[in-house]
Amino acid sequence: MPGSYLSPAPQDLPPLKKHELRELFEHLDTRSTCDHTFAHTTQFLERRDIATEPVLAWLQMNGAGCDCEVIFNVAANWDAWALSPE
Ligand SMILES: [Zn+2]
Repeated sequence: MPGSYLSPAPQDLPPLKKHELRELFEHLDTRSTCDHTFAHTTQFLERRDIATEPVLAWLQMNGAGCDCEVIFNVAANWDAWALSPE
């Protein structure tokens, strides 16, 4: 459903809390290089003891195949949700 990112269906929600998703976007935004893997995303998640597999699966479902595509394809759609009140 287009335009539903602010109130996504429960099955579409990321396996991350809003502030975690926001921090992930901020983290990736500061990385200038992408080697077309999820290296930075994985590092971010591991540092916070967040299980990587569900998050990577969710990111791929939302059109990201690597760190820079998280910004291009996922942040573009999910920023509003991540910034909305808890
Ligand atoms: Zn990339």
